[in-house]
Amino acid sequence: MNPLLHDAAQRASRYLAGLDERSVYPTAAAIARLAELDQPMPEHPQPADAVLRQLDELGSPATMANAGGRFFGFVVGGALPVSVAANWLATAWDQNSANPAAAPATAAFELVALRWLRELLDLPRDAAGAFVTGTTMGNLCALAAARHAVLERAGWDVEADGLFGAPPITVVVGAEAHPTLFKALGVLGLGRNRVVTVPVDGQGRMRAECLPRLAGPSIVCTQAGNVNTGAFDPFDALCEQAHRDGAWVHVDGAFGLWAQAAPGLRHLCAGVNRADSWATDAHKWLNVPYDSGLAFVRDASALRAAMSVTAAYLPTPGDGARVPSDFTPELSRRARGVDVWAALSALGREGVAALVERCCAHARTFAQGLRGAGVEVLNEVVLNQVLVRFGDAQTTRDVIEALQADGTCWCGLTQWQGQVAMRISVSSWATTEADVERSLAAILRLANGRAR
Ligand SMILES: *Cc1c(COP(=O)(O)O)cnc(C)c1O
Repeated sequence: MNPLLHDAAQRASRYLAGLDERSVYPTAAAIARLAELDQPMPEHPQPADAVLRQLDELGSPATMANAGGRFFGFVVGGALPVSVAANWLATAWDQNSANPAAAPATAAFELVALRWLRELLDLPRDAAGAFVTGTTMGNLCALAAARHAVLERAGWDVEADGLFGAPPITVVVGAEAHPTLFKALGVLGLGRNRVVTVPVDGQGRMRAECLPRLAGPSIVCTQAGNVNTGAFDPFDALCEQAHRDGAWVHVDGAFGLWAQAAPGLRHLCAGVNRADSWATDAHKWLNVPYDSGLAFVRDASALRAAMSVTAAYLPTPGDGARVPSDFTPELSRRARGVDVWAALSALGREGVAALVERCCAHARTFAQGLRGAGVEVLNEVVLNQVLVRFGDAQTTRDVIEALQADGTCWCGLTQWQGQVAMRISVSSWATTEADVERSLAAILRLANGRAR
């Protein structure tokens, strides 16, 4: 037994077991102690066990307890124990998952995980898939494939010749597109600002009747799961119109695409599989450790054209095996797909559906409890997101601040169509009914204390 790894496992277990008792946001004292880290780099080697002890003693108390059941900020999932354990083992393997010639095992696990995901999310069975760091990179990869394909149809090779002098691409987004989509557009040279914006309804859904007629190279960016409301764009109508005009349709489905895996929620995604590319996260709703996202592209050759390395020194498998790095921005990378494979294996189809549906049921319990107490819920709670307002903007800010300091649970502040709101996102396997009741009681206690 390696004592250091054994010690790490014990410390991690103790950390997780203690989450239920502690404040979700770390105490001011724990954060203040982080200043002790600011030392000169050691001149001499330090014993590894002392390094680990310092990491645990200073780091663990100063973490946000989002691995526990009462963190409802952003859209941050927990990490299923089986995926944490698989992650540890795969880290010990230390495989370079760029190429099956270097890492046959991880290539095989990832290949199966991608097939299971296409089936689970009901995406085209021959779509290309790629394990990336998150949906930001998933969007970037999928939009790079889109850029390749729409320019190729216009007779332009963007990978070879770049964008200077290329035919212009019309990029269409919804008015409530996620900010990271614009980052991807900027990195790709498509421009954060040179987009055509389609207005949305009160839930943030693109109004399909406002999609303009498109001509020439065009990309329409849609969304499954608005980060505030959880709402879905009308994919059937958007795909119908966009494809009629020869445009590429992309779906940012960071968490919402997982509704495809839950029979009770699939109707929300109607038509999503008619799109040309999809990005989603595994570190959100599949509850695997950071960082883990995915890109899927219907036309595998487009993703490959955008991402493949062409270098003679890299071995090409003689058997035509898939080379993962032909589909990802990275060459060397960790075996993200192993954590995903472990989560999917342990949950099965039923387990994934139950996880997603349970989070949505908890969100409805929050909404009912709050509405019942006279608190305004701003959105139609169709998924796992609840937007709440406590009277005016200042009171809403005050309640959020008091709640975060109270530590029973953690919810963040957001802006929704010009209004300050508190967002409750239920995205973790670890959240129980008792966690929801305890959090609801804390929210109402603090809101009542601050009612104006
Ligand atoms: C979280 C989120 C993203 C960004 O995902 P990362 O994994 O943080 O890169 C993009 N789009 C939507 C809708 C999201 O919710």
